[in-house]
Amino acid sequence: MTHSREAELEQNLAAVQSRISRAVETAGIDHRPELIVVTKYFPAADVERLYTLGVHHIGENKDQEAAAKAAETSHLDRLNWHFIGQLQSNKAKSVVRYAYAVHSVDRQKIARALAQGAEAALDRGDRAHPLHCLIQVDLRHPKPDDGRGGAAAGEIPSLAEIIAEAPALELAGLMAVAPPEAEPRPVFERLAALSEQLRADHPQAAAISAGMSQDLEDAVAHGATHLRIGRDVLGARPYPR
Ligand SMILES: *Cc1c(COP(=O)(O)O)cnc(C)c1O
Repeated sequence: MTHSREAELEQNLAAVQSRISRAVETAGIDHRPELIVVTKYFPAADVERLYTLGVHHIGENKDQEAAAKAAETSHLDRLNWHFIGQLQSNKAKSVVRYAYAVHSVDRQKIARALAQGAEAALDRGDRAHPLHCLIQVDLRHPKPDDGRGGAAAGEIPSLAEIIAEAPALELAGLMAVAPPEAEPRPVFERLAALSEQLRADHPQAAAISAGMSQDLEDAVAHGATHLRIGRDVLGARPYPR
């Protein structure tokens, strides 16, 4: 019997896919959410293995690590990189070269830097399509100043305007990370309500990026369209982040 990394990933992926199927069935929804496999800390070789298993959406949270893996896997056709981590505006120029989507737009400065960077990248031919942008919201209130990413709910409309008006950006929707120390359901419920408000002004911004390994069922029940799953596919990370 072999215990190859391929077999391990295949098995983990199948288990996650069946959890998603069950959650979709339980929730009685007709649109299966997109699975984004978060490969932070794991090598580009795992990205290739996942690609072979049919995964075309990969999530990363650090620019340096993501840029290196995107370069190593540039021969893979239609592999979409989702940037999901906190972003410094000086990294925007790098991220727009490889990212299909950024889920963590939480400040006007970042939105403007991405708008500029993506426009330049389109002009140079470094990218072919507008950059999908999701506004990351932090639903704890009062929002503690603990350095976690996320805009306050009240900041969504102004951020949405900036993104929607930028020719090289496409406003895709909202993203949130449920705080590990609290019950995720109220967070996902609030996110769904904010998404509805956003869609009143921006009907195309329908994405709801929510749900990680430990709470994907709750996220699906509350209308998540994108799930960001790391450890339940790749295994435990050497350090939690
Ligand atoms: C790491 C990470 C994930 C994946 O979390 P798991 O618990 O490994 O499934 C999802 N979203 C963000 C923003 C992350 O940083």
